[in-house]
Amino acid sequence: MGHPSVLLWLSLVFIEGSNAFLATISRTHQTTNVYHNVRTCVTLNSNQRVPSNIKQFVNTKSRTISFRSSSVSWLSASANGASSSSSSYDEVCDVLVLGSGPAGRAIASLLGSSKVGMDVVVADTNFDTEWVPNYGVWSDEWDAILQAYQSFGIELKGGSEGGCIDHEWNVTDCYFGGSFDIPMEQRMRLERPYKRVDKNALQESLSTGFRHVNAKHISKAINVNMYSPAGSLMHDEDGTTIQLRKGDGSMMTVRTKLVIDSTGHETKLVLRDTRDPYTSPGFQIAYGALVEIDESDAPDKSQVGPYAKEAMTLFDYRTDHFDDETMLTKAESAPTFMYAMPLKGNQIFFEETSLVARPGVSLQECKDRCDIRLKHHGIKVAKVVEEEFCYIPMGGALPIRDQRVIGIGGAAVMVHPSTGYHLCRCLMGATAMASAIQKEMNTQQPNLDKVAASAYHALWSPENTRQRNFAVFGGEFLMKQNVVGLRGFFDGFFKLPLELWGGFLAGWPGLPNNDAHESWLARIWFGLNFIARIPLPVALDMAASIAAYSISEGVPLPQSVTPFLGEPYSYEYDRNTDNVGDVAVKTEARKMIADSKVTKDVPVAFDEEAYAVEEEKVAA
Ligand SMILES: Cc1cc2nc3c(=O)[nH]c(=O)nc-3n(C[C@H](O)[C@H](O)[C@H](O)COP(=O)(O)OP(=O)(O)OC[C@H]3O[C@@H](n4cnc5c(N)ncnc54)[C@H](O)[C@@H]3O)c2cc1C
Repeated sequence: MGHPSVLLWLSLVFIEGSNAFLATISRTHQTTNVYHNVRTCVTLNSNQRVPSNIKQFVNTKSRTISFRSSSVSWLSASANGASSSSSSYDEVCDVLVLGSGPAGRAIASLLGSSKVGMDVVVADTNFDTEWVPNYGVWSDEWDAILQAYQSFGIELKGGSEGGCIDHEWNVTDCYFGGSFDIPMEQRMRLERPYKRVDKNALQESLSTGFRHVNAKHISKAINVNMYSPAGSLMHDEDGTTIQLRKGDGSMMTVRTKLVIDSTGHETKLVLRDTRDPYTSPGFQIAYGALVEIDESDAPDKSQVGPYAKEAMTLFDYRTDHFDDETMLTKAESAPTFMYAMPLKGNQIFFEETSLVARPGVSLQECKDRCDIRLKHHGIKVAKVVEEEFCYIPMGGALPIRDQRVIGIGGAAVMVHPSTGYHLCRCLMGATAMASAIQKEMNTQQPNLDKVAASAYHALWSPENTRQRNFAVFGGEFLMKQNVVGLRGFFDGFFKLPLELWGGFLAGWPGLPNNDAHESWLARIWFGLNFIARIPLPVALDMAASIAAYSISEGVPLPQSVTPFLGEPYSYEYDRNTDNVGDVAVKTEARKMIADSKVTKDVPVAFDEEAYAVEEEKVAA
């Protein structure tokens, strides 16, 4: 207990109470071997051996500083169940991606692409399972995704239309009849093409650039960077050691620099920040069915009931198909709409969807309403080819700061909080994250906490968080609307210029039209235009809701539409870790303690060289 370094630590806790500072002053110098390959750089203590499974590394000598006295080099990480020798790692990689849904495969392909060139392993026991969701996307958004992936050397290809697309509609239809004098049969046609993603082609296109292990993680975060069961996931300065359970039940140990969690909305590793203001998630629930219809006595084969085959029907919010009063009342207060994609021949995908609700509408309710609607329109289902049960959590708290595990996709709450769109946001966000990781990892000695912070920042910059806060309010407003309110809302919404409504639906940097929502001024412009186009009762309700929400939820909404009230928090490492307190005074204190003539009994046993390095850094 009387060791000088302990005394030094205690005195400095008194001075500044900063972990970052503690780490800095307890520097020790070590001579190390640095092993390079074309993709990566790992640091080994001189007494450690290179494991046989990383033969490709070329040995070059260099001198480095270990930033923590307690640090362990990554190949010697050992505690509570993790392997103690390098040979017992079953896999060694730069990046371990947990989960192989769209988010996981996207980030794995990008980081493993020729442009980034990291050694990536994807772990998922469902790796070979076909994706369930049928993804619908706006054509221009998809084109932006194709381009973004091309810039990493990744071709999204396949599908009968190419570019991972199996169908494209040039126009998109909506039906909001039944309220505000909108005739029941009135169709609103949007001149904006829509596409159906060929999910198998996308899955296939995002399958290169990484290795795969048939295993899943077993850990659960119990606090920031702490996991249960003990020893199943441990971070240290140079990486992470994680235990995975293989498909056959046996365990494996992976040593990696970075862990990316793409296990979806129900992640057990990415903690959410429930300290700052946030609203609970809502849920999009939908029953979908790909069906073949019996058209033998259909009078017009260019139509499927009321739906034109040349168009994709985005919203049919009409309720005239209910004869039963109880069902009608329920459908009016907890509305669902029909989303219909006519495919080849007599195939059509129908999805009865509750846009967002809390609690969610039951799936059985959606299925029953779908059946009633189809019967009402005289649509005869000959065969159900596929069924889809859609459950999408929307909104909720963002990931907490300073986590070493990097979240993406559902795990990083990337779903649009008022529409449920996710795919394009997630794919585009992955490109920004990959670039951020590449940049940080290319530095001389990557600080992995900083890498993780920059990865989160690439998704949730303060500006993007502000934009999201605006959309979260949108979701809350939609959730409390009955069917009349929703018809009025969307009728006005789609009368806006395309860039205004398209930008709201995109809601992600890099997607087309998003610049019409990226600044507070743009959002105010959108709001004023919108409120002028919706029916008076809906406009009044919206004004009252804005006031009530701002009172109950505090700054997020006013902050999203004004330049006042500061910024949402930043994930950037420098801001929340390095620059704690007054760095200049702390440096001065260090120097004065060292120079003091009367403090010879106070521990000032700074490592001279480390101190000089720190001084230089602060001066720079
Ligand atoms: C039916 C349906 C329809 C949808 N339609 C659309 C749409 O039209 N447009 C749109 O933009 N969005 C749509 N969405 C939303 C979007 O599909 C989801 O939000 C998206 O699938 C989430 O992607 P993800 O990669 O984050 O997670 P997921 O797709 O949920 O993938 C998670 C992966 O993690 C794996 N995993 C889980 N636990 C572990 C573990 N312990 N260790 C390792 N791996 C693990 C799972 O096996 C899975 O492969 C739809 C969603 C559903 C359910």
